[in-house]
Amino acid sequence: MNEDALTQDSIEDAERYVLSSLLYNDFYPAQRIAQGSFIRIMEQYRALDSQSMARLLQEELRSVSEVNMPFNDIGFSNVGTFLRLCFNNYYVDLVNALSFFTALAATLSGAADEQENATYNDLLGSLQNPNIVPGIEMKSMLDASGGMNNYYVISSFLSLVIFEFAHMESSDVVIRRCQNPACGKFFTVKRSDAKYCSFPSPQNPSRLCKDYYPQLLHRKKLKENDLDLLIKNAYGRLYNQKRRHPDRADEVSGLISTLQIEADSKKQEVLNDSMTKKDFETWLKSLTPTKGDDIYE
Ligand SMILES: [Zn+2]
Repeated sequence: MNEDALTQDSIEDAERYVLSSLLYNDFYPAQRIAQGSFIRIMEQYRALDSQSMARLLQEELRSVSEVNMPFNDIGFSNVGTFLRLCFNNYYVDLVNALSFFTALAATLSGAADEQENATYNDLLGSLQNPNIVPGIEMKSMLDASGGMNNYYVISSFLSLVIFEFAHMESSDVVIRRCQNPACGKFFTVKRSDAKYCSFPSPQNPSRLCKDYYPQLLHRKKLKENDLDLLIKNAYGRLYNQKRRHPDRADEVSGLISTLQIEADSKKQEVLNDSMTKKDFETWLKSLTPTKGDDIYE
């Protein structure tokens, strides 16, 4: 017998390997589901008779040829090919969960674009198949007062997403997309008028979007008012020059139309920090007739 051949013992070794390698130390729920995802698949394939193995392998190989899978050398011949087969299943579950989460969240938050709507409808259609939504197990237990408590054991990313959303429907929680344009993360909220999430804001990760972004908007508004005033003053100065020096009217009209055409985009540059306010002021000052500066105050 081939010493690499897959046996009960080697599956258990593989299980230990998966549990110790899929740690995701920074996020415990992801660690549990990732490990659970692998173990669920191992459980499924454990102790199969050779006929079922052949049938399943055929299905697995068919999906490899239809979908872009990480591995195509999969099978039950040894631990390596078996782990790769498990990984393919884990990967498909993860990808399905991510696409379904994004499309569903976008749809429920009312912020879905055409692409997200199409993905949502596609996935909704394919999720009618029970084999695609694996891994929710319910356990019931009576408590001391005779009440029944249900516990759920979830071992797939996709079923976690579906489970969470199904329960959201029956609570008063709604899903929103953060309106900080640099963020756009989905978040849940009880107060339906919340616009910004409670995650670190991309502009300033030490502050949360909901605290930081309204302040940023306010500061931006003040800065914009300030720039609008400078532009208004520049118009005033040019109109005065035109009135006081009719001989230069054409030249000043040209400067006024430059101001009309360029002021707004330069203002945006200052608001986006790609131009300094000092340079903006210098530019405004440069819009003045070239000769006889002394008379054009
Ligand atoms: Zn946000």
